[in-house]
Amino acid sequence: MTPSDKTSAAQTGLPFRELPLAPAALANLEQLGYLLMTPIQAASLPIALAGHDLIAQAKTGSGKTAAFALALLTKLNVRRFAVQALVLCPTRELADQVSQEIRRLARSEDNIKLITLCGGAQMRPQISSLEHGAHIVVGTPGRIIDHLERGSLKLDAVNTLVLDEADRMLDMGFFDDIARIAGACPEERQTLLFSATYPEGIARLSRQFLREPQEVILLEQHQGSKIRQRFYEVAEEQRLPAVGLLLNHYRPVSTLAFCNTKQQCRDLLAVLRGQGFHALALHGDMEQRDRDQVLVQFANRSCSVLVATDVAARGLDISQLEAVINVDITPDPEVHTHRIGRTGRVDQEGWAFSLASAKQLRRVAAIEKAQGRAVEWHSLAELQGDGDLPVKPLVPAMLTLQILGGRKEKIRAGDVLGALTGEAGFTKAQVGKINVTESSTYVAVERGIARAALKKLSDGTVKGKRVKVFLMQGSR
Ligand code: ADP
Ligand code: MG
Repeated sequence: MTPSDKTSAAQTGLPFRELPLAPAALANLEQLGYLLMTPIQAASLPIALAGHDLIAQAKTGSGKTAAFALALLTKLNVRRFAVQALVLCPTRELADQVSQEIRRLARSEDNIKLITLCGGAQMRPQISSLEHGAHIVVGTPGRIIDHLERGSLKLDAVNTLVLDEADRMLDMGFFDDIARIAGACPEERQTLLFSATYPEGIARLSRQFLREPQEVILLEQHQGSKIRQRFYEVAEEQRLPAVGLLLNHYRPVSTLAFCNTKQQCRDLLAVLRGQGFHALALHGDMEQRDRDQVLVQFANRSCSVLVATDVAARGLDISQLEAVINVDITPDPEVHTHRIGRTGRVDQEGWAFSLASAKQLRRVAAIEKAQGRAVEWHSLAELQGDGDLPVKPLVPAMLTLQILGGRKEKIRAGDVLGALTGEAGFTKAQVGKINVTESSTYVAVERGIARAALKKLSDGTVKGKRVKVFLMQGSR
């Protein structure tokens, strides 16, 4: 069967109720607004729910998490206090996102315990959580191995092993770690492998750890109408200023700008800030805490532009990315496809802009060849606008307040929302995303009320306690 045959049934957008799922699970999906399966879900869920091993390949943002989450949740026996499902992810951010999605999907069932085990966090709290028992573990290979070595994690009751973003895990050199972890799981188990691309190593992984797997491959659908790609030819000295022109012209709420080098990231950040944009950069050598703070501010709409290299952006999953800018053309067309695939996710349209110098036209030709069609060229002059009229600066809608205190202090999102909408008198609509981490809580509020909200929170209490609060204005 060719891959396109395999997808044809899925394209019709089947409802979840076609699947053998419990009524409560179906009701929960409906509440989450998941009415129709995405193509990868429609193609892989029947196989996974039937208990087969599976290799599923589909682009980022296609809904792979729910495809394995529903399969592992269906098999879970809540009364059995043992780790029954293990999900391996390449990075801590992905593990956190996968954990969140599984929790949302598990809401129809009480008392399902999930633990996220990743490096960069302390061992001790993880060990004590494990002692209390867990049904599902999501984590990165390195930390899972640490726990196996200490004997704090037992995998002998695992009936579902998921390798999520298997291609990335291979890129990051986790093959041997995966082998060790799979070896610690029972042989009688279901193994589900998910990947955005299908490099050589995937076949090797599958031969070694999967049993008679069925394959589902969904071809890239980037050429569809969802991602609108435009190329601009630039002289080298126009490249960085052109990013600002694009932002002012198209005014996307959230943009990821890809640079080929760290130095280019630093230069672009300086240029953008000089032009008054609220921009942040992600680089590989950043401390986890700083990385988290950047991601929180970008995802909650306190920052308009995130500047990053491919390596630093690895594993990033931000929904509602309106635009991707290729500040430079990458020599590898597959990297290009991956970059632009980050915009225009489920049900959304996205822009992908690419800046190419005359010297890079050969790289553009390689992209055209890989995409099977010519790219669309536009001229920078279109972006200059009315010349004399000053453009209104692109200002993010929100600003982030950092509260010192998080899960450790038993602060929950509801407590912060309550503090702001209760006595402080703000409306729910003025409060955005609330992220509670181990020791800090980040709350996005409308820019216009940020100072007032800061004062109210500092003068009042959260959960009956006084808290220290800061405005995060690092993006300018
Ligand atoms: P992937 O792992 O393929 O990159 P995710 O599992 O992270 O993709 O899903 C991308 C986004 O799509 C998430 O925000 C998720 O909540 C949403 N999503 C997944 N399945 C559906 C669905 N059937 N209907 C609507 N939204 C969905
Ligand atoms: Mg995923």
